Amino acid sequence: MRTYAYGYPRLGEGREFKRLIEGYWQGKVSETALRDGMAELEQQRLATYAQFVDAFPMGEMTLYDAMLDTAIMLGVYSIDPNDLNAYFELARGENALPMTKWFNTNYHYLVPHLSRATAFRLHWNKPLQHLQAWRSVSGSPSIGYLIGPYTFVRLSRGYAPEELPYLLEAVAEPYGELLRQVRQAGADYVQIDEPALVLDVPAEHLPALQRVYQSLGEAAPLLLMTYYDSVDVLPLLYELPLAGIGLDLVHGKRNLQHIGRFGFPSDKILVAGIIDGRNVWRSNLGALMEQVENLQSRTGATLWLSNGSPLMHLPVSVAPEEKLDPALKARIAFAKERLQELQQLKRWLLGESDRSDPSNMSDMPPTDHWYSTEVRQRVANLRPSDFEREKPYSERDPLQRARLNLPLFPTTTIGSFPQTPEVRQMRTAYRNGKISAAEYETFIQNEIRRCIQLQEEIGLDVLVHGEFERTDMVEFFAEKMEGIAFTQHGWLLSYGTRVYRPPIIYGDVQRREPMTLKEITFAQSLTQKPVKGMLTGPVTIVAWSFVREDIPVEQVAFQIALALQDEVRDLEEAGIAIIQIDEPAYRERAPLKRADWEPYFRWAAQAFKLAARARPETQLHTHMCYSDFNEVLHFIDWMDADVITIEATRSKGEVIGAFEHYNYARQIGPGVFDVHSPVVPRVESIEAIIERAIRVIPRERFWINPDCGLKTRRWEEVIPALQHMVQAAHNLRARYGGDGVQLR
Ligand code: GLN
Ligand code: ZN
Repeated sequence: MRTYAYGYPRLGEGREFKRLIEGYWQGKVSETALRDGMAELEQQRLATYAQFVDAFPMGEMTLYDAMLDTAIMLGVYSIDPNDLNAYFELARGENALPMTKWFNTNYHYLVPHLSRATAFRLHWNKPLQHLQAWRSVSGSPSIGYLIGPYTFVRLSRGYAPEELPYLLEAVAEPYGELLRQVRQAGADYVQIDEPALVLDVPAEHLPALQRVYQSLGEAAPLLLMTYYDSVDVLPLLYELPLAGIGLDLVHGKRNLQHIGRFGFPSDKILVAGIIDGRNVWRSNLGALMEQVENLQSRTGATLWLSNGSPLMHLPVSVAPEEKLDPALKARIAFAKERLQELQQLKRWLLGESDRSDPSNMSDMPPTDHWYSTEVRQRVANLRPSDFEREKPYSERDPLQRARLNLPLFPTTTIGSFPQTPEVRQMRTAYRNGKISAAEYETFIQNEIRRCIQLQEEIGLDVLVHGEFERTDMVEFFAEKMEGIAFTQHGWLLSYGTRVYRPPIIYGDVQRREPMTLKEITFAQSLTQKPVKGMLTGPVTIVAWSFVREDIPVEQVAFQIALALQDEVRDLEEAGIAIIQIDEPAYRERAPLKRADWEPYFRWAAQAFKLAARARPETQLHTHMCYSDFNEVLHFIDWMDADVITIEATRSKGEVIGAFEHYNYARQIGPGVFDVHSPVVPRVESIEAIIERAIRVIPRERFWINPDCGLKTRRWEEVIPALQHMVQAAHNLRARYGGDGVQLR
């Protein structure tokens, strides 16, 4: 029996990865210094593995993204991999590859563009390079690392779905070549990641998949790794010439059932992912001992004990967290502590150490202060009617129209306005105690005043306060809620060198006091036009946090929803007529397999509706920033929001197509310009987008707004863009007879 770990964070304990690469971009770090620094960082990363586990792969390190690296290896982009500028050009230059979410995580990968015309060839043998560079570090078996062909092709774009088998066979050749070279150089195994096998795998993919792995398995001893969920085609993998198969036994519960049913081949290694790579709660080592003994007796396979998914979804280490509640600190594990757990588990199993359980709860600081009977009661007492608004949309709509008196094609924005360096500096100064609370508040008020004035000048119909007081839409609310903690150093990569710190939801959640009331009512006091109350929804708060596991996730979401509902009440009480509850994570939090969607969307919609249970005359908006709506529109309907604003410009009409096939009965604002681009859209192009959309979406249900919040843009871009947007609205009203006319 061995311990095995993979996916250990590349960021470094002091975020060295980010510092080095960004320093290089800014011209502050030389190319040599970057290479030396990265080599040292990799050495430390591998040394950490070596300290705790028996084996680990080499070649995981990347300067930006592993999917991009794979595309370069296969000759899709034939830049010289040693040419840093060419590399970063692909990663973040003007014509960079698009970016999208990596499975159901918050990591974003670069999406390669493939077509039938792509000439695949082995262009760069990255694992070979790494194995040669790092051989000296490891005394353990030498194991290369690769993203597998199925995952690579499936997560790329540019080709029609039926072309996938063709492309899969086409990439197999350079893959085979690469593997043979690695094998010849003396590698014992190659870890080949195929997380795409946990998605729904269409039957049409299987023959090509089998053929490809038949040949790759002969090129080198493969450890085919899957994670994030269970593999429904497991028996098929059993027949392939693989040295081992990695299964996530934490987030792929059905994997255990599959093993129970089909067994596990005794000539293969089972890389048993029993330690959680996605969440932070310490493992129950006693229970894991039993699970391992069980697996051993039931399968007869060679067992390698491992993490269930790459450790990169966890911060580096809990150790430097000095300010964390000791009760919480004692109960969580980040990547390094996961390696320690593997080591400890193995020692126990071999009888090498006594079984004083480090996760033994009785030795830990108590957690009574985490719980609130009141919050528990409130959730326990919820009845079906608490999740529904008093009146259906058809009755709310006329009440809201009468109250708001908006023109045809009302214009609005998604919430945030530019977060200038000044805004960020002031926030930091306030946090560091350099300016007083009163000074900070005055500063924020001035920003709000300027923002309202500007929106009035531009002529927008529904205004926002600008979100200057918020760094991050989840952090802002999480900090104001009981039961949610923040780390000081718990950074994760979200893409490239970009990092974020997820909160940890550990106890019962409730709001201490109103969270947004002050800023929103201040903004509303400055104008006759409606100002939207801005909240982040419960599903998004849950999706972007580490979540407690001692109660079902929907109960966590309901607790948060109730706290938000209190906020909605306060805003209504203060006369706010429109409230927007952002749920950008509503779609992305959905499970990977379609079969699991219904139950998820059921609680997700319920949580949203619980938060959004506003009076009938309050217009409830929600915002989501993505565009693959085809399969989820009816789940969005379940949210019962009066207005949804979504991202639409970058999807080139796909969104509108979705509405062609589904009769969405409420109001919708498919974004009319791309906030990710500094380009100021022209009036005519905005008009053209709207004209196309209103062929499908009825005019009286159409809102005009950007794709998303404007916080990453500069004022010089935002002002003309919004002026053009408002001008487009006027032109359309003139054309369709709606200017100044109140709609019924
Ligand atoms: N209201 C938020 C903003 O405007 C929404 C951001 C988001 O959807 N991610 O920034
Ligand atoms: Zn958005």
